[in-house]
Amino acid sequence: MNIAFIGLGNMGAPMATNLVKAGHSVTVFDLVESAIQTLEAEGAKRGESAEACVRGAEVIISMLPAGAHVKGLYLGRNGEPGLLDTLDGKPLLIDASTISPDDARTVAAAAAERGISYLDAPVSGGVGGAKAGILTFIVGGDSAAFDKARPVLEAMGKNIFHAGDNGAGQVAKICNNMLLGILMSGTAEALALGVKNGMDPAVLSEIMKQSSGGNWALNVYNPWPGVMEGSAASRDYQGGFLTDLMAKDLGLAWELALGSKSSVPMGSQARNLFALHSAQGNGALDFSSIQTLYRAGDE
Ligand code: NAD
Repeated sequence: MNIAFIGLGNMGAPMATNLVKAGHSVTVFDLVESAIQTLEAEGAKRGESAEACVRGAEVIISMLPAGAHVKGLYLGRNGEPGLLDTLDGKPLLIDASTISPDDARTVAAAAAERGISYLDAPVSGGVGGAKAGILTFIVGGDSAAFDKARPVLEAMGKNIFHAGDNGAGQVAKICNNMLLGILMSGTAEALALGVKNGMDPAVLSEIMKQSSGGNWALNVYNPWPGVMEGSAASRDYQGGFLTDLMAKDLGLAWELALGSKSSVPMGSQARNLFALHSAQGNGALDFSSIQTLYRAGDE
């Protein structure tokens, strides 16, 4: 298939690479030139602009930081036209970014007015999952578009869920990430408590993994440096899933709760912790660096 891929960051780059490896013809674009060059070296074609990148594409995939970027790309900003205004054919749009369900529905409705299908398809699984091609896709949109997208998504992911109509993919993803934020901060808290009381963090981690405290943050994304080889914590929290993106997702959960009159006390606590951590200058570190908030003054 002819696929256009826009947004080659921590997640987008390995996802686009897997599409190339699966034999698709992939044209890429990012605002960062070095990101395009990295993908060219993997066998992708260069798009000089977003408009040039999508020319002739059957499928357009975007993987951008937040809703403002996604709306800017498809709908335009500051009076500039968006991709929806310049498309010649009727490609399938798949946005894999994590954005608000309302933003996803807004883009979906604008696409539908032009007879174009849009899927919100946020992912779970982190950079490791993106590299290994085993992401979970959580898709919102109509069934025909979902069926068309499936083989493309299978080149990048293992579990492909149809969550419901447009926006449902984002609702499910936001619920998942609110839980992840709670689990990561809780895990960091428990590890800091144990270490303050004489435990070796690796020994404590192993015990909790085999006990009722085991969870994804502890088991596969351990936030304590040196406990797990290859973890973000073991490379000074560089790369991975940024604190600012987790703070964004917890903000999305908070907005969703306000809009539906839901009570999310644990999610609010996690949102405040990650917002504080970001305000202290850690926004560009992996989110597991929340561990350092609990270790302040230890060293
Ligand atoms: P990132 O910041 O590493 O990458 C975003 C990329 O988009 C950057 O390369 C940036 O230059 C590019 N970009 C921004 N605006 C653009 C535009 N208008 N045109 C072209 N390129 C543009 O972010 P990421 O970690 O890859 O995350 C992307 C999305 O996936 C976010 O919504 C995030 O919440 C979600 N997500 C991330 C992870 C993770 O572990 N990193 C996991 C699941 C979901």
